[in-house]
Amino acid sequence: MNTSDAERLATVLKQLGYQETNNEKEADLIGVIACSVRQAAVDRIYGKLREWQLVKVKRPLITLLSGCVLPQDRKKFKDKFDLFIDINHLDHIATDLKNLAPEEKLALSDFFSIDPSYQSDYRAYVPIMTGCNKFCTYCAVPYTRGREMSRPSGQIIDEVKNLLSQGYKEIILLGQNVNSYGLDRKEEIKFPELLKKIDGLGKNFWLKFLTSHPYDMSDELIATMSKAQNLSHYLHLPVQSGSDAVLKKMNRHYTVAHYKKLIKKIREAIADIAISTDIIVGFPTETEVQFKETLKLVKEVGYNTAYFAQYSPRVGTAATKMFKDDVPKTTKKKRWQELNKLIGQQSLNFNKKLIGKTALVLIDQNEKIDKNYLNLGKLANYTTVKINTSKPLKIGGFVKVKITKALNWGVEGAIIKK
Ligand code: SAH
Ligand code: SF4
Repeated sequence: MNTSDAERLATVLKQLGYQETNNEKEADLIGVIACSVRQAAVDRIYGKLREWQLVKVKRPLITLLSGCVLPQDRKKFKDKFDLFIDINHLDHIATDLKNLAPEEKLALSDFFSIDPSYQSDYRAYVPIMTGCNKFCTYCAVPYTRGREMSRPSGQIIDEVKNLLSQGYKEIILLGQNVNSYGLDRKEEIKFPELLKKIDGLGKNFWLKFLTSHPYDMSDELIATMSKAQNLSHYLHLPVQSGSDAVLKKMNRHYTVAHYKKLIKKIREAIADIAISTDIIVGFPTETEVQFKETLKLVKEVGYNTAYFAQYSPRVGTAATKMFKDDVPKTTKKKRWQELNKLIGQQSLNFNKKLIGKTALVLIDQNEKIDKNYLNLGKLANYTTVKINTSKPLKIGGFVKVKITKALNWGVEGAIIKK
């Protein structure tokens, strides 16, 4: 989502006459696309601000803040940045910038109708909705991005059509809870229908979507997924905890039994699907027994990857009002490490099962090492693949490989001659 926000913001700035640079030293305008999900990311902004304050003493520099920012942080940062841009209202940027730099031209567009300056020429993030209505008690998103707002399907389809005609190989549909796409617009198609339409727009591309909420994962969606031609066999389905008591306090609206049933249905529909998840450890009042339930669930599901976070209280969310952040930092860290060790083993097991299989790899980077090249790419299910070759492989191109070896963080593959 941050990448997608940045791509759209870059377009608006370009419309205003700005040029992109990777060199902070020559920038006239510099900004942060913030993430407020955890405190650590917010703290990093202060570090950057101090750096830029020193630059401002020497030369003119406009600093900008956008992305996911909590109202409280917005107040705190108000005097420290020259501009705050609500990401859902990029149309304000032109007027706000005009006050600072009156010679600028006006550009008016809303977030969704902006043609983004894609950072990659083969992988594109396409937002289909923004905001969230779920109000999980720990989460800042409903406060930073507001309520669910679906993008008109015609606009999404046009963007994807255009990307495919330019040769894009991977399309990632984005939303905090893509499964509730269209529910805020009576006349609009719903997510399974949207997925079906996008799947039908072309051949030989990878289609993915992020993120699904287990509560809204319908049978209709699972059936659509199993029939789709281009959909990667990969699903990110955050569970957050393996304890019903904790899930209830998190306001997740499902039980562990419901989640397990979902996983079963999904695997019955798509046998080789790779599933990943998000888990929070150390949610207020989480006991050792409840954490063990999470470990048990992770073992039972057999994820190929997972993202773990130590609970971090976000000002203004329900959890901070209802509970004390009472799990000690050391316990959170211990639980995090335990889960990390487990997922490392699961990941290796998953990777071992891939040995001997042939698969397409989308190449992301290569590097010359002695006389040969080390190429890194991804399988459709996001597994990293390492390929050694004598000539570099084309970045953004597909190659067919045979998986030869399992590693902790991915697999090794050898090119299959056509
Ligand atoms: N919409 C997505 C997640 C968005 S936030 C979903 O529902 O799954 C991404 C992840 O950050 C969450 O899945 C959660 O695991 C983590 N997270 C969110 N708020 C957090 C908090 N206060 N402390 C720790 N982790 C948090
Ligand atoms: Fe946050 Fe929950 Fe919404 Fe995900 S579903 S963005 S965790 S409130």
